[in-house]
Amino acid sequence: MTNRSDERAVWQFWRWPLPWQILAGLIGGLIFGFLLVQWAQSNPEFSPRDFVLRWVKPFGVLFVNSLKLIAIPLILASLIKGVSDLQDMSRLSSMGGRTIFLYLITTFVAVCIGLVAVNLIGPGKGLPKDVQEKLLGDQDGVERVAKIAASAAKEQGKGPLQAIVDVVPENLAAAASNNGNMLQVIFWAIFFGIAMIVAPPQEVAPVKAFFDGLNTVILTMVDLIMLFAPIGVFALMASLIAETNDWRIFAALAWYSITVVLGLAIVLFGVYPFLVVGFGNTGYVKFLRGMLPAQLLAFTTSSSAATLPVTVECVEKNLGVDPKVASFVLPIGATVNMDGTSLYQAVAAVFIAQALGIDLDFYQQMTIVVTATLASIGSAAVPGAGMVMLVIVLAAIGVPQSGLALILAVDRVLDMCRTTINVTGDAAVATVVNRAMSRRKQ
Ligand code: ASP
Repeated sequence: MTNRSDERAVWQFWRWPLPWQILAGLIGGLIFGFLLVQWAQSNPEFSPRDFVLRWVKPFGVLFVNSLKLIAIPLILASLIKGVSDLQDMSRLSSMGGRTIFLYLITTFVAVCIGLVAVNLIGPGKGLPKDVQEKLLGDQDGVERVAKIAASAAKEQGKGPLQAIVDVVPENLAAAASNNGNMLQVIFWAIFFGIAMIVAPPQEVAPVKAFFDGLNTVILTMVDLIMLFAPIGVFALMASLIAETNDWRIFAALAWYSITVVLGLAIVLFGVYPFLVVGFGNTGYVKFLRGMLPAQLLAFTTSSSAATLPVTVECVEKNLGVDPKVASFVLPIGATVNMDGTSLYQAVAAVFIAQALGIDLDFYQQMTIVVTATLASIGSAAVPGAGMVMLVIVLAAIGVPQSGLALILAVDRVLDMCRTTINVTGDAAVATVVNRAMSRRKQ
């Protein structure tokens, strides 16, 4: 009979440890993408974009789709197992309370770091006028902004309690149907798990055995999918390079990008070590090493939801977090805890205001703190979602949404960076909750 650690033998299908494999795929993809772009310069009839779209990107899409495919079953199985394993409501409420508190605090701190950085650096003030006009007048950009604003319009104008109403689905199948309503699926799973705690144990035993088994099967599916991680990551990176056609714009937006990345780095090397080492009783090097596969995947896929299965694996297996804690804290975190996104929203909002010559007073900056915190909670765990919710932040401080055109060009790359922080933040909180819960047991 195999146990969970024997099953991990599938990871060793390739010779290298998984993080190295993914890193090799990432660097290989970047080099391949650049080579294609170089090749196109001496062969004008060759289009790197068309080539990757036809022959390379599909492998990346296959990989991401297979991860997304198991996100909902994973949330259902792992949350139901996690909640029902707790066997008592007071443990559940104590874990839930700690988790939500830590998620809110870390998001708040991240927004504040972003605000301080963007006000000190002032990247929007130095944006050359010709670049600004080019970006604001670009037809493609204007159309993309219109689409983003249309998606955001669904969120705007809702009543204050609507966010709570939206958590409770009318229909589980509909909620689980397109990965778009993770929070509703989470609600259903927690509710189901609670009912299992309350119901007579002997009658619930077969249901519990089913979900325990399902959880193991799904984690094994993650192992199998990860065998293809190097290929998927290679394809995603090569496509990213070949599809980017104007690198000069990156230079013009360098200060804005540097501000976002600097803020994210402060969170990664300042806030999280404080939490993980101080309250999670875990060495920070061990933490970063253990999380590397999930971080690399978050970076390449720009989706916390697609990365979730691997985040769960890393947190349980490499950081030694109790599966009961990981399976509760992480699915919720992937959906609501987005420190990187909230920080980016604060920087982007002030950057756009600075570039458009709008001075933001103290009250408006405080409005950013509140709206960016809420907007990041409301952002879906998929690529580009943070930008959709940014529309709400801009509306709250009276900055025109057309200003989004200024940051479109670099958003894909910044999305990769902020998603990495989003996923790392969930894991950091998992270590703290784990420590607190194990203390409570003693
Ligand atoms: N891509 C991010 C995530 O999945 C959300 C965002 O900021 O766009 O975590």
